[in-house]
Amino acid sequence: MKVHVDPDLCISCGSCVDICPDVFDWNEDGIAQEQVDEVPEDVEDLAKEAVESCPTDAIMEYSGSKQRAALAMKKE
Ligand code: SF4
Repeated sequence: MKVHVDPDLCISCGSCVDICPDVFDWNEDGIAQEQVDEVPEDVEDLAKEAVESCPTDAIMEYSGSKQRAALAMKKE
């Protein structure tokens, strides 16, 4: 499982960073950002919880290539 935060959608609410700090942290602009390429298995449940908690749906959960996931999202 992989995750990606869309910086244009993040409103810096802090939910994902609180729930799963192993995967999400703040970047220098105060926007949440994924810290790992691949989410470690032992924190997958927390990462999923963080994705669901995001009030603006800024976090994309995907597997495989990021480009393919982004394309799939655009079609939705
Ligand atoms: S939960 Fe969503 S809006 Fe809140 S800090 Fe994380 S990515 Fe940003």
